[in-house]
Amino acid sequence: MSDRVIIFDTTLRDGEQSPGSTMSLEEKIRLARRLELLGVDVIEAGYPASSPGDFKAVETIAGMCEHAEVAGLARAFVPDIDAAWNALKGAKKPRIHIFVATSPLHMEFKLRKTPAEVLDQIRMAVSHAVRYTPNVEFSCEDASRSEPDFLVKACNEAILAGARTINLPDTVGYAQPEDFSALVAHVINNTVKAPDGQEVIFSVHCHNDLGMAVANTLAAVKAGARQVEATVGGIGERAGNAALEEVVMALHVRKDYYGLETGVTTQQIYPTVRLLSRIVAQPIPLNKPIVGANAFAHESGIHQDGVLKHRGTYEIMDPDSIGVPANTLIMGKHSGRRALTSKIQALGYKLNDEQIDMVFAAMKKLADVKKNIFDEDIEALILEEVLRIPDKYELVHLGIHSSDIGVPPTAMIVMTVDGEEKQKSAFGVGPIDAVFNAIAKITNHPYTLDRYSVNAITGGSDAQGEVTVRLVQNGRKAVGRGSHPDVINASARAFINALNRLAKRHEEH
Ligand SMILES: [Zn+2]
Repeated sequence: MSDRVIIFDTTLRDGEQSPGSTMSLEEKIRLARRLELLGVDVIEAGYPASSPGDFKAVETIAGMCEHAEVAGLARAFVPDIDAAWNALKGAKKPRIHIFVATSPLHMEFKLRKTPAEVLDQIRMAVSHAVRYTPNVEFSCEDASRSEPDFLVKACNEAILAGARTINLPDTVGYAQPEDFSALVAHVINNTVKAPDGQEVIFSVHCHNDLGMAVANTLAAVKAGARQVEATVGGIGERAGNAALEEVVMALHVRKDYYGLETGVTTQQIYPTVRLLSRIVAQPIPLNKPIVGANAFAHESGIHQDGVLKHRGTYEIMDPDSIGVPANTLIMGKHSGRRALTSKIQALGYKLNDEQIDMVFAAMKKLADVKKNIFDEDIEALILEEVLRIPDKYELVHLGIHSSDIGVPPTAMIVMTVDGEEKQKSAFGVGPIDAVFNAIAKITNHPYTLDRYSVNAITGGSDAQGEVTVRLVQNGRKAVGRGSHPDVINASARAFINALNRLAKRHEEH
């Protein structure tokens, strides 16, 4: 048995079927390019018979891929197989992927066929596909709920008809690792050899309904499966598929346990997940294994101190190995002075002990109201606490009149500019717009609001609102933050904070 695991990516097919993840042709092309860089062995580009759009996507990606095999999905019907081949025939390495359900439930209620009829259909479909290409994969849909001996019969039909990859999906995410590995071993040990002597590759395709997709996939690999079907970020039908990056990194980090290789360039993992996240406009959850923002973040002082002394104390993999730009030691309430010192150095500042103490004290204060303290916060603390230039602008008073009838929302702002008190009023489409207009009138600087976001620092309706704005002024950008239980007040503070940062940078240069 080979020690190479074939990585079959189905982000563009199964992944694209997940709610809210529909991709345009352009986006599929970009992702396919990235998947080739990542080094997956097979890209399942779609299901050509399902729609003209899917056909076009498979045809385009088939014509484009240099190294990866390109697969098209087909039900076990002649028209589906013909459509798949028509879409795939321009590929350097085409693969037809046929599936039919083999569980009693699916055969009786969905297919309305007897087991014998299903076996006939498998023989017919695979025989038809191998006339086009010897690279045919056959999947027993709902394999994990199929009777093990019938599963062996179904796989034998496919192998004898010419399929060289046999896929055993846990279509509904029902399997448990030990059971599933026993089932995979049963099929591997009891199926026939290919008549032409070629090796038959066994594959799995696991769904995550019970959170077991990656565990089941790895258990199957341990039992002898040498192809895994997975998606970037684990997107897919319902709760999704096995996450490609998790399977790959488990094999990579625990090579001592699995003793197996993949063709994946692990440094491409992070950029690939980021690209997918941008395409489907879904943020990567903070706590997502391998690629979440917190995956390499150490907050507790003990952990930070350990990581600084020896990475291996709390890190089982190097962030560089998956292509994360730099290790982000996120500061917080429990961060120690030592971690802060190293962060300050990394940001390029040379401070003496007394100055570090000032920043440390300010960070502890900030950590009381702000859970995660990022690089820009530390930078702001250095600039504000140590290399202090008094704030040019300060908010003194804010008044709002807002109603959905009559006068448009109005803001009255009192603030100091270089210590001198000034007052202005302005209208806006909403109260926050009115506040920004009034501040802009006082500071007399044209600006563009590039980004505005509001988050609750803690739960509950009395939580502090934390507003982040990004302003662009004469081509220069500045981020400002403000927090206050009243989001309008927090917005004014964030806006003024950004203006102060712009002003400081102006004076420093
Ligand atoms: Zn699936």
